[in-house]
Amino acid sequence: MTRKPLIAGNWKMNKTIGEAISYVKELREFVEDIHNREIVVCPPFTALSAVGAEIKTSNIALGAQDVYWEKKGSFTSAVSAEMLKEIGVKYVIIGHSERRQFFDETNETVNKKVKAALENGLTPIVCIGESEEEREDEETENVIEEQLKNGLMDLTKEQFLRLVIAYEPVWAIGTGKNATPEEAEEAHIFIRKLIAEMFDEETASSIRILYGGSVKPDIIKELMAKENIDGALVGGASLDARQFSDIIKF
Ligand code: PEP
Repeated sequence: MTRKPLIAGNWKMNKTIGEAISYVKELREFVEDIHNREIVVCPPFTALSAVGAEIKTSNIALGAQDVYWEKKGSFTSAVSAEMLKEIGVKYVIIGHSERRQFFDETNETVNKKVKAALENGLTPIVCIGESEEEREDEETENVIEEQLKNGLMDLTKEQFLRLVIAYEPVWAIGTGKNATPEEAEEAHIFIRKLIAEMFDEETASSIRILYGGSVKPDIIKELMAKENIDGALVGGASLDARQFSDIIKF
């Protein structure tokens, strides 16, 4: 099963519209010849529309960092999947550990968001991963299993095949301390085993599983050499167009 590598940049709460546009103009040039991977940038909501217009004719796709599950109504500050789709968003990060930590995201809300995204033709990038304490307590597999099975509950096989999973150990996010390629591969193998239990081997081997957590240009090649690592979700190092393009080109 060939899984096209996907490299996504999560800008978090960074870049004004002006900064975002200068960045994507640079990135476009750096990666214009790259066609053997999917490239995604996830700007903050305010810059989505402008970035979308700038990359429309490029090989870079637009991603959002969150979505709300309701279609419309009195949900102050929320943005629906239909609204994202309207401005050209193709991917949406769901369940990022910062959303879980600071904004009360739960596996239940992840599940609702994933369904809303899929219903609107968006590709969810669903983040799962254990904290440092959970790893020390040897709870890693339990946490991953709970997040995967509850966060992605009640999806059909057809729906499941349309999503992307990002394994992001919380202790590696923004810390400069990445998981070793072996640690990441071990978790990815475990995730594939769970998917095979939930569906079947074919589904498990079709799904792309990204690694996220302090990915930098100097480690990406080693990570991507692992059979079960299909790309990366990049935070800090995606904020600089040159560094991000070095990761994309690994
Ligand atoms: C992230 O926020 O998804 C992430 C992986 O961040 P960083 O690359 O900065 O660790």
